[in-house]
Amino acid sequence: MDGAPAIETSPAVLILLGPPGAGKGTQARLLEEEFGLVQLSTGDLLRAAVAAGTDAGKAAKAVMEAGDLVSDDIVIAILRDRLGDADVQRGVILDGFPRTTVQASALDALLLETGQKINAAISLEVDDGEMVTRISGRYTCGGCGEGYHDTFKQPETAGTCDKCGAADMKRRADDKAETVGQRLQAYHAQTAPLISYYDGKGVLQSVDAMGNIHNIAAALAQIVRDATRPN
Ligand code: ADP
Ligand code: ZN
Repeated sequence: MDGAPAIETSPAVLILLGPPGAGKGTQARLLEEEFGLVQLSTGDLLRAAVAAGTDAGKAAKAVMEAGDLVSDDIVIAILRDRLGDADVQRGVILDGFPRTTVQASALDALLLETGQKINAAISLEVDDGEMVTRISGRYTCGGCGEGYHDTFKQPETAGTCDKCGAADMKRRADDKAETVGQRLQAYHAQTAPLISYYDGKGVLQSVDAMGNIHNIAAALAQIVRDATRPN
């Protein structure tokens, strides 16, 4: 690496790849806690824009509800803004971005500007059939963001969060069974090609994401440790 400093000081950049329901958000939250990184979810940023009624949010709302991808211009602009914030300077876990080859090139250009590199792009490998069940049963605490599931993880008292006690469970508008199929299709058509894109750059890592959350988390943590070790 000509010109690079002997000690790597620039903030880490990790990418989580995988279809909707693969557990990107769950795993990103665990990595945040363990490594002091910041999860950047373009889905969360877009939902916040929709809730705030910004121009970007107005343009994104119907597209998201149909399970299609929001336009690259909107998503790239939102991500670029967020990457400028002070709290992300220790490093980021990109969750749900990039989702198209145009977004991947835009990210490369952004990182070139800031002198950063991608430490790892981690592909969470899962079966499509299982994803529909996982997604259509899930809901989240509006108070603290803890995730729950009708079948796999119910709170001790129905409707009340085990973690923070709030009684404010939320389901995403696009988690309906009808929309999940379209989201999976968009994933295979537009996002799955990024797996070979990052393989070609030598930063791809694949993890079997069908098993136990804690085993998957341990595998991811090891990858992050190896990929961010100064050398
Ligand atoms: P999931 O990964 O479970 O589908 P997200 O919260 O990441 O959920 O995304 C929800 C929706 O937000 C997507 O279906 C899409 O409409 C939109 N979205 C999120 N990230 C992007 C992106 N990088 N490019 C285009 N659309 C996006
Ligand atoms: Zn809660």
